[in-house]
Amino acid sequence: MGSEIVADSLVINELQNHLGVDVSVITDPSVTASYMRDQAPFAESAPPLAVVIARDIQTISSLLKFAHAHSIPVVTRGGGSGLAGGANSTADSIVLALEKMAEIIEIDPRNMIARVQAGVINQDLDIAAQEYGLAYLPDPASREWSTIGGNAATNAGGMCCVKYGVTSQHIRAMTVVLANGEIVKLGSATKKAVTTLDLAHLMIGSEGTLGVIAELTVSLAIRPKSPSTLVATFADITEAARASTELLKFSPSMLEIVDQTTIRAVEAWRPLGFESVGSVLLMQVDDGSDLSEAVALCTAMGAVDAIFSDDPADSADLIALRKLAYPALERMGMTLLDDVAVPLTKIADLVLAVEQIAATHKLTIAVFGHAGDGNLHPTIVYPHGDDDAAERASKAFNEIVLTAQALGGTTSGEHGIGSIKRSLVLQEIDPKVIELQRSIKAIFDPKNILNPNKKLA
Ligand SMILES: Cc1cc2nc3c(=O)[nH]c(=O)nc-3n(C[C@H](O)[C@H](O)[C@H](O)COP(=O)(O)OP(=O)(O)OC[C@H]3O[C@@H](n4cnc5c(N)ncnc54)[C@H](O)[C@@H]3O)c2cc1C
Repeated sequence: MGSEIVADSLVINELQNHLGVDVSVITDPSVTASYMRDQAPFAESAPPLAVVIARDIQTISSLLKFAHAHSIPVVTRGGGSGLAGGANSTADSIVLALEKMAEIIEIDPRNMIARVQAGVINQDLDIAAQEYGLAYLPDPASREWSTIGGNAATNAGGMCCVKYGVTSQHIRAMTVVLANGEIVKLGSATKKAVTTLDLAHLMIGSEGTLGVIAELTVSLAIRPKSPSTLVATFADITEAARASTELLKFSPSMLEIVDQTTIRAVEAWRPLGFESVGSVLLMQVDDGSDLSEAVALCTAMGAVDAIFSDDPADSADLIALRKLAYPALERMGMTLLDDVAVPLTKIADLVLAVEQIAATHKLTIAVFGHAGDGNLHPTIVYPHGDDDAAERASKAFNEIVLTAQALGGTTSGEHGIGSIKRSLVLQEIDPKVIELQRSIKAIFDPKNILNPNKKLA
């Protein structure tokens, strides 16, 4: 047995003694390997030293006290649905898995809040809130398996953000375990609170680098009405993008755009009748308003066709194109999903630039995303097992980000920086801000044990 392995097993024994026999400390490589990465291709990862399954906040605190004393990196993991390599482990790290901290502690309908453990699945909370006529609104497409803690740590978005905002707008307070194991409560359960610096929101989007979010108090909303849905087709993306900014006046609860490459991928798999179309806009409103005026606006702005339905039963059919976009691309090969945000007026410019990047690198790149937020997901498709194409895909991925930056946009709109976009941040962000971020990290995590080499450039 090598001396490093002996040293590792001594540390793990000590950790198990420290945490107590009731806490699962997993070292079986066939199990630890399943905790070593999220859903981002290309992001580096290695099986961790151990996986600790936390069932309560005391376990998190004990683990961090131990890791802090021994300077061992800790990678917090929610659902592992991330798309930036944020939850990926290194060989010298411990993965702190929060999947068993899945208790909805309280739903308080009169104050319209819920208190949950961090490992609660997003959709489970929304279903529980439904019983009170309430909703937990943030709706990442991964909501069936991503956790509220992970959503907070990445400040996840989704389709409803155009009306209801991203995760941060729905979080009031949280209990956080600091790098040295201390437990602090940040924020307030009240709707308004300006008593302290907004440290709860500093944690939001910090991707596990500043503390471990153990419990959250989130806002619930009156459940919106069933949506009415509009579908408008355009000859090209420029017209569709221009119409999308005008449609914002209808207060959409969803406003998505789909480019021609995406349309072709879906049509080749599940024909929906859009084969001769250049771009499609899909909009929903959930306030019961009539969409005839929106149809007229689309027509005036060059739509080839525009229809709407206020029958909830039709909604699923009408937004099928958007729902099928990613699965249709996945069946064509390996996919590398980018995530950038640009000013609303630059959406078409981004799509046209992506078409150029696709041609240069001889790749298929489809673009769809949240037109109402300027947050697009150019998705690079390349053949399985083709190393050369994989390298070109990786270059194209970075070029898309640089293009978004050049258009006045940003490196990530919702998926986060993780490890895959760290190097790209420096080109966008003022060095002074990078320095401030590093100082904040040093205050919260002086030994740099919390998800090192992620998020912060
Ligand atoms: C099919 C699919 C669709 C998706 N759709 C969307 C979408 O519409 N919008 C969107 O924004 N994202 C989307 N994502 C990305 C992903 O689901 C989100 O980033 C999600 O918020 C991650 O949650 P998770 O619980 O899986 O976190 P993980 O993937 O486990 O972790 C994500 C990051 O958060 C950290 N972290 C997790 N839990 C905690 C905690 N309690 N305390 C501190 N740090 C923590 C991790 O260390 C890591 O850095 C999608 C992913 C997939 C695979």
